[in-house]
Amino acid sequence: MKITRIETFLVPPRWLFCRIETDEGVVGWGEPVIEGRAEVVRAAVDVLAEYLIGQDPLRIQDHWQVLGKGGFYRGGPILSSAVAGIDQALWDIAGKAYGAPVHALLGGPVRDEVRVYAWVGGDEPAELTEQITAQVEAGFTAVKMNAAGRTPPLPTPAETAAVVDRVAAARAVLGPGRDVAIDMHGRFGPAGARRVLQAIEPLHPLFVEEPLLPDQGHLLSSLVAATSVPIATGERLYGRADFLPALTAGIAVAQPDLSHAGGISEVHRIASLAETYGAQLAPHCPLGPIALAASLQIAFATPNFLIQEQSRGIHYNKDADLLSYVVDTDPFRFVGGRARRTALPGLGITVDENAVRAADRTGHAWRNPVWRHDDGAFAEW
Ligand SMILES: [Mg+2]
Repeated sequence: MKITRIETFLVPPRWLFCRIETDEGVVGWGEPVIEGRAEVVRAAVDVLAEYLIGQDPLRIQDHWQVLGKGGFYRGGPILSSAVAGIDQALWDIAGKAYGAPVHALLGGPVRDEVRVYAWVGGDEPAELTEQITAQVEAGFTAVKMNAAGRTPPLPTPAETAAVVDRVAAARAVLGPGRDVAIDMHGRFGPAGARRVLQAIEPLHPLFVEEPLLPDQGHLLSSLVAATSVPIATGERLYGRADFLPALTAGIAVAQPDLSHAGGISEVHRIASLAETYGAQLAPHCPLGPIALAASLQIAFATPNFLIQEQSRGIHYNKDADLLSYVVDTDPFRFVGGRARRTALPGLGITVDENAVRAADRTGHAWRNPVWRHDDGAFAEW
């Protein structure tokens, strides 16, 4: 079998898909994207495709070495995301060629269901109560929310109290038997994060995500030591070498993104590395159906898996949502807040190629907002 064609599709709301075709008619799909820089990743995929045309798609490990390392310069969001999407598509092809789901090729399933969480927004506790109630009624047992919007490096007592009020409102709806995870987006700064963590500690969050920016990774170990709240990070880390210091610092939850951190191949390795540190895996995935399908395949095959993010109804999903580009929506039907394992080959989904081609004609130019503090200085989003 040989790779004959590699195409990319820029589809709303903010995604990029790639389709790899072979001379035997087997087709694989991947999602190589960095949110807000999709066109740049598309160009990277085009460059990497030069090497892959004519190659045997089943030599996934070897291709990963060449694509990830063969250009001398390595790592980072753009290259690692391009490699990630291609890697997903190659695993999809391998599964279809061998007639097996990807999790079977990774050693077989270690679980039959995968717990997923729902995203909830809402700046006011009342809005949050309403949204979480709806998710609980839909069967979810865990939600994730942002700690705060634009935040000064050191929050005032009122700003800290507002975070506590929102998390308390979430806990009031969820009760002690469900979970709330909090995303800080690195907005508070190290001292602010320490203070807010202490304030929300009694509310027992499942984890707090990105209390520090990746640039401040050297401070992670002291933050971990200062709180009993499980610390999570990883959506802005791009491979094993990036995760090693965070794991050594004692994070409880590693959050590689299947579309950023080198795909199924590398996240499988990151999961094993995390296991040696007693850390759990909770892949980042506010993305599309292919990235989520790849995440679920990893979840079914990873012993130290915790919970999966998914983007249904997330605030980013304007003009299209998780189910817009799949023929069979069953793999993403969450019952009791869980996805069920299927024996479908490859990534286990059927991409609606006509819908993808039509959406690519519209495309998108999604960018994250640029925030500024009251004094006009740049603020973390
Ligand atoms: Mg996050």
